[in-house]
Amino acid sequence: MRATRRRRFDLSAVSELLLAVPTVLSSLLVVTLLGKPVTPEVLWLFPVLWLVSGAVVLLPATDAVLALTHRLRRPTRAEKQVLVPLLESVCDAAALDPRRYRLWVQDSREINAMAVGGRVVSVSTAALGLRPEQLEAVLAHELGHHLAGHARASLLRWWYELPARLTVSLVFLVGWGVLVAGAALKTRLAMVASLLAVAALAVVAVAASPWVLLVPVIAPLLALTSRRAELNADRVAAELGYGPLLLEVLQRWRNEGHDVIRARAGLKERMLASHPSCTSRISKLVQTTTAPGPESGGRHRSLRPTGA
Ligand SMILES: [Zn+2]
Repeated sequence: MRATRRRRFDLSAVSELLLAVPTVLSSLLVVTLLGKPVTPEVLWLFPVLWLVSGAVVLLPATDAVLALTHRLRRPTRAEKQVLVPLLESVCDAAALDPRRYRLWVQDSREINAMAVGGRVVSVSTAALGLRPEQLEAVLAHELGHHLAGHARASLLRWWYELPARLTVSLVFLVGWGVLVAGAALKTRLAMVASLLAVAALAVVAVAASPWVLLVPVIAPLLALTSRRAELNADRVAAELGYGPLLLEVLQRWRNEGHDVIRARAGLKERMLASHPSCTSRISKLVQTTTAPGPESGGRHRSLRPTGA
């Protein structure tokens, strides 16, 4: 009997959480300042309540809300007839209970899939046009994200960064409003005063949240972490026996010109890309698929005809 694959945060998920620490500290400061007038005698109450509130990301209802915010919909009966047996097959390969996961569909003409929250596995309507075994491999990749905690880590990071991010947005909005007001008055004094006010606002914001200065460093590191997560999810799919089928899908993407579009992008876009190039993924996947892995039992699936 095959051992159940353990769900645990891998290095990519842990790295993503660690990179969030500066922003989360700023969030903590914001929440503390917000709570101060409400509970001046118990300053720790708001920060603690907010930290505990992170448990909300574990609720199944949160997954449904997230799916809706990603513009996903429930599959139709016909789509379920295609997707449910494939998800069951992937879960069987990983010795997991398929009832844990929730299938959603994204209306899109692009072949795509995503893992959201703790349980959502979504595919685009275009992906439903893949051969069933290829679609199964895509589901295996998304399951890999869930098993490695990628989707959960992203959600936790988003939740705990929210107060800091909202505050930064508010500061930008106020700064923009001050500049617009200064320009509307059409006097040199008003312009200078508004510029000085915005500069002072920026100094206060940076003093309160020094993490803002780290954004140019953290953003590419987060993107790098995301690209590592993609390769890890590919590896999980390969370990479950879906390597050759996933290769087919990646080769199709490459043939459709995904890498060409990427190569034309500027350095900044490439540094902030959340996914590796198809060529990189194919190269890594070939290594994983041909190297002996920890779950050779699951790799029996790679022996079935791929039709390629
Ligand atoms: Zn992925």
